[in-house]
Amino acid sequence: MAVIAALPETEEGRRRLALTGPVDNEPLGEIVVATADDVRAAVDRARAAQPAWAARPVRERARIVARALDVLVRRRAEVIDTLHAETGKPPVEALTMEIVPSCDFLNYWTALAPRALRAERRALHGYLRPSKKLVVAYRPLGVVGVITPWNGPFVLALNPLVQALLAGNAVVLKPSEVAPRSGEWAVRILREAGVPADVVAVVHGDGQTGAALVDAGVDKISFTGSVATGRVIGAACGAALIPCTLELGGKDAMIVCADADLEEAAAGAVYLSMFNCGQVCLSVERVYVVDSVADAFEARVAEIAAAVRHRSVAGPGAEVDMGPFTSERQRAIVRRHLDDARARGATVLVGGGENGGGGLHFTPTVLTGVTHDMAVMTEETFGPIVAIERVRDEDEAIRLANDSPYGLSGSVFTADPARMREIAARLVTGSVVHNDAAVVYGVPEAPFGGRRSSGLGRVNGGREGLRGFTHAQPLLLARRLGRGQTIRYPYTDAQEKQLDRLVRVGFGRRILRRLLA
Ligand code: NAD
Repeated sequence: MAVIAALPETEEGRRRLALTGPVDNEPLGEIVVATADDVRAAVDRARAAQPAWAARPVRERARIVARALDVLVRRRAEVIDTLHAETGKPPVEALTMEIVPSCDFLNYWTALAPRALRAERRALHGYLRPSKKLVVAYRPLGVVGVITPWNGPFVLALNPLVQALLAGNAVVLKPSEVAPRSGEWAVRILREAGVPADVVAVVHGDGQTGAALVDAGVDKISFTGSVATGRVIGAACGAALIPCTLELGGKDAMIVCADADLEEAAAGAVYLSMFNCGQVCLSVERVYVVDSVADAFEARVAEIAAAVRHRSVAGPGAEVDMGPFTSERQRAIVRRHLDDARARGATVLVGGGENGGGGLHFTPTVLTGVTHDMAVMTEETFGPIVAIERVRDEDEAIRLANDSPYGLSGSVFTADPARMREIAARLVTGSVVHNDAAVVYGVPEAPFGGRRSSGLGRVNGGREGLRGFTHAQPLLLARRLGRGQTIRYPYTDAQEKQLDRLVRVGFGRRILRRLLA
């Protein structure tokens, strides 16, 4: 969305926001901002509808949610059109980043849910085994509030919605005001698939609406967005004592080792810094390349970046590799980072500014000679810049990669998987990817989340992901054989001796310890 402008309020006193597209500054209609009362009413309706949804067997919920995949396949062109209009991403990028992973998530989570959410018997260890049995049941939390950003507005809404619903919750989504209709599509396809309207609802608006959702008595918040907002939401959830997952910003480093396939590394550095116009939490924001291969690497990066087709090069309506920025605010941040880097002595190898193509287009840019004195190496840039710093060796690369308040993900380009593992063990990041980056969010088996300021909690992670939207309720069952082992009043000397013997002999002797473990 290029511009969001306030319009006169509705007759009922609700705020209105006018939306403008980033491709050609075309008007995209408006949203009426939900008030705190509207939000609370949506949450109340969701709470009333949730028990009936939770009462359906998981298999039935999964069958209904799986139908959303049919709806998405059928209506994908409409979703792509909305994504393109609101965010500017080229259709191929809407497919790679939003539609294909959404199809995969729907398919994966609906297949997994019946197994992952079944109550499970857990074997107890030797000391407790004679007296108790343990079953863990996964209960829905109730109503989950999902608050999402504008850069992946469809998939980042759909993925938590699907997981929360499969786990038996009702969900209220507050999509970003910058790409509201793209987020709303996630709710539309789930409703069209047969999820009851009050079980999956959407409220539109900006930060005030999001804050109202956090305050509306929900049982969990799943938030994806900036660090600043994440801190505010984390504090509010702390005060309300409700769980939250915070998937926040990043400053992901890519390390290019001396043995890396340089062609692959150069192509990766350009693509992984620039796809979605660089507006990806997991995109490569910093590149550290070891000196011995730096000349060849930089030269190849420059060639590949110069050939990236963006709007003013390709001409209106033509094929493009890189779309515009989604928001004016984002373009301003990137401009500031570029100006700062130039002023502090960085070299602009390629690009370096607006491309004169109208809308929010920008040139693919390559910077060399950057250092940690520059904003482009320390703050989240979120723009189509490959920023390359040369390092003596991998140790220096690791030290610089860790020199950041963020810790979302990292990437290591090397021909040697063992070296990648060694480096990964020293990186303070939520995940590490070999000869690639960013794709880790699209791997639902991988627990995804940041360290340091990049977030709190995990999304995805196979069954852990689905179970994150539940309360794991241990059911401690009595064994018949265990009768008499339970302590009751009155205490007796015999009991005391027996317990003391357990400590002295059972835990005191190594051989018996093993039996009790
Ligand atoms: P943002 O924090 O400005 O907004 C995110 C959402 O929060 C929006 O829906 C917004 O309306 C809402 N919001 C704003 N203030 C709020 C408040 N006080 N209370 C409740 N809700 C509030 O983020 P953005 O600019 O939309 O998104 C870009 C950021 O998201 C980047 O930092 C990016 O790295 C991050 N991101 C992280 C991930 C991840 O998985 N870690 C994925 C995508 C984007």
